[in-house]
Amino acid sequence: MDKLVLKKEFFGGILYDKKYKENLCIDKDTYQILEMLDLNNLEYTKNIEYIKENVEESDVLEIFRELIENGIISLNVERCKQYDIPENYLSAPFRVFYDITYKCNLRCKHCFTSSGIQKKDELTIDEKIKLVEQLSKLGVERVSIAGGEPFVSEDLYKFIEKCNEKDIDVSISTNATLFTNEVIDKINKLKIKNITVSFDGRYRKKYGFYKRKWYISKNN
Ligand code: SF4
Repeated sequence: MDKLVLKKEFFGGILYDKKYKENLCIDKDTYQILEMLDLNNLEYTKNIEYIKENVEESDVLEIFRELIENGIISLNVERCKQYDIPENYLSAPFRVFYDITYKCNLRCKHCFTSSGIQKKDELTIDEKIKLVEQLSKLGVERVSIAGGEPFVSEDLYKFIEKCNEKDIDVSISTNATLFTNEVIDKINKLKIKNITVSFDGRYRKKYGFYKRKWYISKNN
């Protein structure tokens, strides 16, 4: 609840939404339940006792339904219901690392994916979109895109748009050498959690030593 502030009031409490600057008034029962959900709450037992004594079981369910409807807590039960989860396995990976292409405008000495030339069997855009749908169905919440250089891929923006549509968090690793104002404008229109930029040396010569192609093209 880092975007919501819970305040105790005589009638119950107020939930202040810091992002949208809105107040939501809640009754005493809802306040006790929300206070109970606070991980730092040292008076957890007191709240449980209050709820046991004062709130009907059906009202507890109703309160949770309202909290969900108001976007205060969210659940995605649909995803949980789809598969039988084998013992000792997670229902889905926490995070999927996806090399969107092996094409790269650089030829770094240390490249652990040996990137440079696009591989013949890379996924088509339709297959990439299907992949996002499958990840969403599995319940994957986060995709980290790397390569190769993601920004040489013509499919990158469509891929991210699909992730955004499916509410999958996106992060990207890039060498950032292709960033222009136009690219930055496009990035700004999408939801991207974080962008990691490789930086291989403070001095031009050293940087070029590792980045090779970039150094060669800029010095000839
Ligand atoms: S920029 Fe990244 S992907 Fe491209 S060659 Fe260098 S390490 Fe490999």
